[in-house]
Amino acid sequence: MNIRRAVEKIEISDIRKIAEKLQCYENTINLTIGEPDLDLPQEIKEAVAYHALNSRINYSPVSGLPELKNKIAKFYNENFCNENYFNGDNVIVTVGSTEGIASSLQTILENDDEVLIPTPAYVGYEPLIKMYGARPKFIDLKENSFNLTGEILEKNISEKTKAIILTYPNNPSGMILDETEMKKIVELLKDREIFLISDEIYASIVFEKYTSFAKYYKELKKQLINLNGFSKSHSMTGYRVGYVIVNEELQAQIKKVSQYKIASASTLSQYAAITALDKCQDISGFIEVFKERAKFFVAKLEEIGFKCLKPKGAFYIFASYENIEKLKDKKSLDLALDLLDKVALGVVPGSSFKVEGYIRFSIVHDIPILKETIERLEKYIKQ
Ligand code: PLP
Repeated sequence: MNIRRAVEKIEISDIRKIAEKLQCYENTINLTIGEPDLDLPQEIKEAVAYHALNSRINYSPVSGLPELKNKIAKFYNENFCNENYFNGDNVIVTVGSTEGIASSLQTILENDDEVLIPTPAYVGYEPLIKMYGARPKFIDLKENSFNLTGEILEKNISEKTKAIILTYPNNPSGMILDETEMKKIVELLKDREIFLISDEIYASIVFEKYTSFAKYYKELKKQLINLNGFSKSHSMTGYRVGYVIVNEELQAQIKKVSQYKIASASTLSQYAAITALDKCQDISGFIEVFKERAKFFVAKLEEIGFKCLKPKGAFYIFASYENIEKLKDKKSLDLALDLLDKVALGVVPGSSFKVEGYIRFSIVHDIPILKETIERLEKYIKQ
């Protein structure tokens, strides 16, 4: 039987290959995981139990419970805009930010459109863009220490460019966009017919000052698609609640796509999200844990020869092994597979993010496990 070519051509990601192999080993330290190890707040668990026991869990309205949409808009206004730019009509609650990415792309992309993505790039975008008949165009930033500038972006824009996807704090690098360059990018895009998809799923887990593109909503109103969710900030990966914030016309269009794809996000999970915003907005303890781990792990990795990008947010360390004589010629996928094989360490190869010479560590383990990781890496390098 013939199935859609674009779907058939999508390959299993390197991350999946590593994850599948991980099952075959014992005593592994799994640093591939993209979810916090810290437990979700007790208040959220209690709210879910309460609603499960006391209410009927019906379908929610397509774009989400009005109460949640209003709270999301308020959260963005207060934390990222300093203005009352948004209200509930700007929001669509989605099944994780993944569905937000998918529904947004499906709403805007035509066959042959180009979507610009600076690297390192989160693995979730490329397959979706291809499935919708468009083409990703990766912007290689290695030569510029992975810093995107207005100038680099401008050079990559063509008449086919329909959208650009920016992810800050970045997965895998933890980097944040320089504010001067951010302003240049806003200036560059505001008069063009190019959508800016800002994936801000790690925006609440930051170690330094962070600016959301939502701050520039006035300038970017017609084209800005803000994506966020509760998976990372509140350890709610399995609850599957994300959201899209856009102007009202775009909201109505994306809502149509979302409606026929998912009907609505889980109502019970939306109650959990309401509680996250009502009672658990202060996640400073959570951030402190990742900050401390990042500081420790980067220092230790650098002692044994890796060169790390210093993360300013999220919970990943993206480390170059190009200065380690014994490793420098290896492809990152081969290195990741070998680390699993020889010292039972699960890491994600840079190739998954379109960058060679790097591997990504998720710091979703306590310091003693991170210490043990360093010992295993040292043993591997000395072998
Ligand atoms: N965007 C980025 C950059 C991510 O790293 C992830 C998950 O790892 C997602 C989106 C998807 O998250 P979710 O669908 O759980 O909201």
